[in-house]
Amino acid sequence: MNFIETRGNDGQRPEKVTFSQAILSPISSFGGIYSPESMPDLGENFLAKHLSSSYKTLAKSVLEAFDIDIDSAIIDKALALYDEFDDPANPVPVVKVLDDLYVSELYHGPTRAFKDMALQPFGIVLSSIAQQRNDNYLILAATSGDTGPAALETFKNKANVQVACMYPVGGTSDVQRLQMVTEDATNLKVIGVKGDFDDTQNALKLLLASGSFNKKLREKNISLSAANSVNFGRIIFQTIYHIHSYLELVRQNAINLGEKVYLDVPSGNFGNALGGYYAMKMGLPVEKILIASNNNNVLTKLINTGAYDLRAQSVIPTTSPAMDILKSSNIERILFDLFGEIRTKELMQQLDIEKHYQLSDAELKTIQAIFSADYCNDEEGKAYIKNTFEKGYLMDPHTATCFKAYDTCREKQLKTIVYSTAEWTKFSPVIANALTGEVDAHDIDALKSIAKEAGIEIPTVISELFDKEITQKSVIEKDAIEEEILSFL
Ligand SMILES: *Cc1c(COP(=O)(O)O)cnc(C)c1O
Repeated sequence: MNFIETRGNDGQRPEKVTFSQAILSPISSFGGIYSPESMPDLGENFLAKHLSSSYKTLAKSVLEAFDIDIDSAIIDKALALYDEFDDPANPVPVVKVLDDLYVSELYHGPTRAFKDMALQPFGIVLSSIAQQRNDNYLILAATSGDTGPAALETFKNKANVQVACMYPVGGTSDVQRLQMVTEDATNLKVIGVKGDFDDTQNALKLLLASGSFNKKLREKNISLSAANSVNFGRIIFQTIYHIHSYLELVRQNAINLGEKVYLDVPSGNFGNALGGYYAMKMGLPVEKILIASNNNNVLTKLINTGAYDLRAQSVIPTTSPAMDILKSSNIERILFDLFGEIRTKELMQQLDIEKHYQLSDAELKTIQAIFSADYCNDEEGKAYIKNTFEKGYLMDPHTATCFKAYDTCREKQLKTIVYSTAEWTKFSPVIANALTGEVDAHDIDALKSIAKEAGIEIPTVISELFDKEITQKSVIEKDAIEEEILSFL
């Protein structure tokens, strides 16, 4: 399968690229992104065939249907990483929580957040093709918390890949910071940047655009790549768990094969929801995809009014920080798929220049036939965490936003799959606050009080972080990033 550009082709770049090209150099004409030219059919026959397949078998079949230019042996090696999840036989448990509500737990990997679902196998794929081509890649990442640990974990000690990961000092939780600064592989560099996440991300963008930086990389024979969520190498792995979760509901006798469900997705950059959209397009019986946001509710407004408006908007810090995003990159792939490249280019350029766009009534109708959306503020989120805990289920603040969408967005009484994107251990101060009222606890104290309250153990991968040696000590001003990275290389 080939990949084409969401904003059309500029005549300079190839009109179509393969999967490996799209993931190695994700930058395309007019600032667009690569999208699949067509989609395989994974409708009822496919689903029936995989009713009793393991996660890995299903995943292999989905990837084969995409017909990507990656050797089968590499794919097997990448998928074998799901064996390292808590339960190798079922890396993504789906748990019944309310009558119609099932939670698909995407956080059972090494860094306890859903980024592992895609980044774990993606690391193997990228490193393997870099080795085959004898190329060396530098992955630059700016993280507000979950992508950083997952990217470091997957690329640690991998051949032909180095990672420089920047985080805002004081802008992540203790657990997230410790997951990064205790990584000690020689191909990894973690840099604390003085400033907030936007400063960090802007510094990264400047660096990516810097002629002198790129020249110095070329002299060292290093190419730049990215592991952010617009990379299709991540998206492809995010279609699989939607299909798996649906099949789990069939296996649990919650639905019959063919029955429609709602997918309920806590959304930021829209990678997770896009995976659900592709799954639906390939034939998964989905009634609608519910898009859950926090107070940074650009997606709610887009889906309810057709307006994407960034004017006079700034990011509002919330208790679900992985969704504190205003420019949701993967929406562009939806626009492209529904409205084509000319319209997508027009809308995205308008957003870049004028900071807003408005869909037509007909376009809005098309969007609303697929998506519904609502947002959940921090107080509501806390109440959902507490109430749901009292019913016997412990969840993180990102997952909680989906419970609001479950209450407000469903038009039919269909079974609903809520995606849980982080374990309670990653956002413990907020959860402790919701459960016991304690405020501003350090992670370690919050972890202990939740463990006590819930009668569970703190997982060792988390508790041992607090005793590990801190190996990544760089904390710098943002204008010193370039020098810091070059000296690491
Ligand atoms: C990244 C992340 C999200 C948002 O996912 P997108 O694919 O960017 O929409 C939600 N919750 C958590 C915990 C995350 O780490």
